[in-house]
Amino acid sequence: MSLLDHLSAKLSAIAAQSLTRTLRRADDGTAPRQNINGRPLLMFCSNDYLGLAAEPAIAEALAEGARTWGGGSGASPLVSGHSAAHEAVTDMLARWYAPHIPQARTIGFCTGYMANLAVVTTLGDEHTEIFSEQLNHASLIDAARLAKAKVTRFPHADLTALRAALTASTARVKLIVTDAVFSMDGDLAPLPALLALADEFDAWLVVDDAHGFGVLGERGRGTLEHFGLHSERLILVGTLGKAAGLAGAFVAAHATIVEYLLQSARNFIFSTASPPAIEHALLTSFALIEGPLGTARRANLVARQTQLRDGLLALIDQHPRLGWQLTDSSTPIQPLIVGGNAEVMALAAALEAAGLRVPGIRPPTVAAGTARLRITLCGTHTATDVDALLTALERAAATQEQAA
Ligand SMILES: *Cc1c(COP(=O)(O)O)cnc(C)c1O
Repeated sequence: MSLLDHLSAKLSAIAAQSLTRTLRRADDGTAPRQNINGRPLLMFCSNDYLGLAAEPAIAEALAEGARTWGGGSGASPLVSGHSAAHEAVTDMLARWYAPHIPQARTIGFCTGYMANLAVVTTLGDEHTEIFSEQLNHASLIDAARLAKAKVTRFPHADLTALRAALTASTARVKLIVTDAVFSMDGDLAPLPALLALADEFDAWLVVDDAHGFGVLGERGRGTLEHFGLHSERLILVGTLGKAAGLAGAFVAAHATIVEYLLQSARNFIFSTASPPAIEHALLTSFALIEGPLGTARRANLVARQTQLRDGLLALIDQHPRLGWQLTDSSTPIQPLIVGGNAEVMALAAALEAAGLRVPGIRPPTVAAGTARLRITLCGTHTATDVDALLTALERAAATQEQAA
């Protein structure tokens, strides 16, 4: 069989399951309102939770960074790609996490995917067992597959199962790996309980805070601040392309762990450092996150979350036959679980026709039968924006109920 025939057959199978994905073209910057495929849409899908990607001060800092540093970094960090701008970012983040991680040090990566790959494959050697939460992000799952360590999965938020697995383990090093905020459900990992288990079993806790950084905690430092955690067992991965509004990622951990990543993480050593202009702009982003603008946007996020959840619960009450459900989320990720792939795509299409972009999420990203609208809120959404979404969903629900 030729490769092209082979792939065509696979593509047909994807289409037959209503699983075909399509790219949409944005014609301007990310914000609650964006021109997509030539149409202005009100967006409930970005992970730019604080609206910083569209903040003029960030664009200005990026331009200033480009004027100072030019374009790319030109080399990997250990050759000549590591600039004073990179160092200012990692120094600042080390200060942010010093209250949570004794002897905290920070190392930067170009993306969160790369940071997760570095942590899990570098620390997950043949002496290690990885305890991986069932709903972990794809990058953590891929990283565990690449690691030499034994990998044991535990069911979502199931502390009893994790305890049993830790008890049974004879591995010299134990690494519990979890998302802090689950990206398709919006719920929080029970980090205090996970950390207590780590203490009890002499394990280490890798926390991927992609959706908590900037959003949670009084100063936006994320889930560690939210829970008030403090332990040398914490290995934090934060990403900077979501609430920070730019790009990149970091690992904050005990200095020895970070030194080992610097010496051994192949995707740190053999990959070009991020453009220094981005690092320069990240300093502005951090100042906004912990300053009055960040505080105000986090407060607005909480208000919009409450408004949205109240509205969705009323809608579910009015249309019980649709079987829609909310998740136990207290974050800007507020999914509406619809069930079937075709149903969720029809719903997303109806919203798009009404001028709203909310992505339908299907298996394998989520479990079969739990296809959902992944609604995400932004700190710059207004009450009117959320009302517009609720009104459009109300119309779509009435239509789907008639068809059912
Ligand atoms: C987005 C995301 C990542 C990947 O981060 P990028 O910087 O986008 O590569 C990792 N983990 C989680 C939980 C994410 O949601």
